[in-house]
Amino acid sequence: MSYSSWLECIRGCGRRYSIYDVVYRCEDCGGLLDVEHDLEALRSRSAAGWMALFDRRTRSNEWPYGSGVWGKKEWVCPQLDDENVVSTYEGHTNCFWAERLGKGIGVPDLWVKLCGNSHTGSFKDLGMTVLVSVVKQMIADGKPVRAVACASTGDTSAALSAYAAAAGIPAIVFLPRGKVSTAQLAQPIANGALVLALDTDFDGCMRIVQEIVADQTVYLANSMNSLRMEGQKTVGIEIAQQFDWEAPDWIIIPAGNLGNVSALGKGLLMMRELGLISGLPRIACAQAANANPLYLSFQTGFEEYRPVAARKTQASAIQIGAPVSYERAVKVLRAFEGVVEQASEDELADAAARADRAGLYSCPQTGVALAALFKLVERGAIRPEHRVVVISTAHGLKFTGFKAGYHDGTLPEVDARQANPPIELPAEISEVRRAIDRAISAPGSS
Ligand SMILES: *Cc1c(COP(=O)(O)O)cnc(C)c1O
Ligand SMILES: [Zn+2]
Repeated sequence: MSYSSWLECIRGCGRRYSIYDVVYRCEDCGGLLDVEHDLEALRSRSAAGWMALFDRRTRSNEWPYGSGVWGKKEWVCPQLDDENVVSTYEGHTNCFWAERLGKGIGVPDLWVKLCGNSHTGSFKDLGMTVLVSVVKQMIADGKPVRAVACASTGDTSAALSAYAAAAGIPAIVFLPRGKVSTAQLAQPIANGALVLALDTDFDGCMRIVQEIVADQTVYLANSMNSLRMEGQKTVGIEIAQQFDWEAPDWIIIPAGNLGNVSALGKGLLMMRELGLISGLPRIACAQAANANPLYLSFQTGFEEYRPVAARKTQASAIQIGAPVSYERAVKVLRAFEGVVEQASEDELADAAARADRAGLYSCPQTGVALAALFKLVERGAIRPEHRVVVISTAHGLKFTGFKAGYHDGTLPEVDARQANPPIELPAEISEVRRAIDRAISAPGSS
């Protein structure tokens, strides 16, 4: 069977392009482009057939199909030659049963999908494997592409730099100077990308990179490039797969540029379309209160929308005031009875710390999603019998400054109620015994 996909204008004007064309917006109406698939061809295999195929490939050694993204290649990027796939075995990340945290808030069926347990430490790997593979195919086919480029709040540039280096393709990354974590700056530097740190914010970097890629020899890797969404949409498919092909009741996801929530919705809708699931989960989008254009728009029932000037937040990966995928995200939220929540600096830091006390190690963006979870439980929207999956978008190890700052009480706007700083003591056994007895009660006494 031959499957196919193409780029198509999201505003329904009908304009189509090849996935190998260097184009990011519809040349007729200016709309973003989405990848569409030949669903009739995909229907030639039954839902049970797809589930069996995906299960058989999961974590297998049959390269590249052991990857969570490439195991679903027919749904993602069917026409690519296997030899041009650039993969780091991304996907199939653990869905952590957050049992203690869940019981603490009265929602025992609580899970955290650890997308940060990945090659470069964030979910961005899921999308970048597809984009860089397509560029490798374009170069193999003789297209004049000399580099890939992106503006980034950190994780996109880390993923782009690693995949480009693996493929031997030059990468250019535009970062807002002084606004990404040291760990995130170190990644593109180490992978040999050309790193340009500009005196502006993310939105300013985005404006510059869009001018640079007008020269078609530099290929844009930001999420307005919908190839990334094809990889990222596997997260929803994977979540269902991890519950034996059943969608949970709620999925909570932190959101900045709104590409990932759009991708999540896209994957789930495709599953329903092809009969792998019957019901859809509800989706809650979580934004930092300091960068909340979607939250404000949601308050008006999405009637009004205004970009905002994003203020500083510990959740630096979602410090975005003018999200590129606003239109896509609103479509998804309408289809999934979606809600949008926001979290203050204090709420996101406290939520991350509470989760860490139950065995997680949450990045600040995941803290925003967890804070949204707590609010939805308090409001009764999420009930005790609901199965809830929180999407953790990056590994906490990328945000050491956030963790250290919380526990030594130096984060702005944050009252570090769960701070657990080290106790400094002389090397004397009596002092040490006293410190232990003060902190930890005797067996059976609590
Ligand atoms: C990119 C990113 C997000 C936001 O995803 P969008 O597609 O921009 O909404 C959230 N968390 C982390 C850690 C990220 O890297
Ligand atoms: Zn159009």
